[in-house]
Amino acid sequence: MTRLAIGFLFLAGVALAATPQEFSTSSGTLQLTPIQHASLIIKAGGKVMYIDPAQGSYDGLPQADYILITDIHGDHMAPALVAKLKKAYTVILAPKAVAAQVPGCTVISNGETQTLGAFKIEAIPMYNLKPGGFHEKGRGNGYILTYGGKRFYFSGDTEGTPEMKALKNIDVAFVCMNLPYTMTPEAAAEAVRAFHPAVVYPYHYSKEENAAAFAKAMAGSGVEVRLLNWYPK
Ligand code: ZN
Repeated sequence: MTRLAIGFLFLAGVALAATPQEFSTSSGTLQLTPIQHASLIIKAGGKVMYIDPAQGSYDGLPQADYILITDIHGDHMAPALVAKLKKAYTVILAPKAVAAQVPGCTVISNGETQTLGAFKIEAIPMYNLKPGGFHEKGRGNGYILTYGGKRFYFSGDTEGTPEMKALKNIDVAFVCMNLPYTMTPEAAAEAVRAFHPAVVYPYHYSKEENAAAFAKAMAGSGVEVRLLNWYPK
């Protein structure tokens, strides 16, 4: 793909800033809207789920039925915001290290599955490949959410691990990148090519050029890359 075409794609993505993304499933529409960086909101079947509510503005957004938290870092876990978003019966799924700092979590560990109403949640390892990195294997969770037969993957902070590359039947993937914490856009593209979702959204990329480089590295893969504005001004 030419540089011009990539530039155009990127601008087209930015024009869709904060546009809710809608996916049809066998249980009806699932709507997903980016908030900022790794934070997003999902609405489906009359329920509201937040993933990593931490960054961005929550003014006017609804209270949570469900919250998923991936890890302890401040761009993923914000205990005061979680306290504001939760209701009496909100279920918060999080790894043990997060549960130690956020009151009221139900612990879910790598490899475990939980059912939240019509949502099935699987916890996937997320980690840096070299031990002693920012993310130790076993501490945090990526998540696969299944709703109405569609599978959505949220990577959390990770490199392209063997577990990620071995994922199967992912319809929609949200994949992180940014150094030194996770991986390069090219490494993210290599991992995404391996598990080959139908659609991928780069998120948690910090710099716009990372998303553009990811899109370029995915060219010709057959995976649809969708660029959104994850950093509203
Ligand atoms: Zn992060």
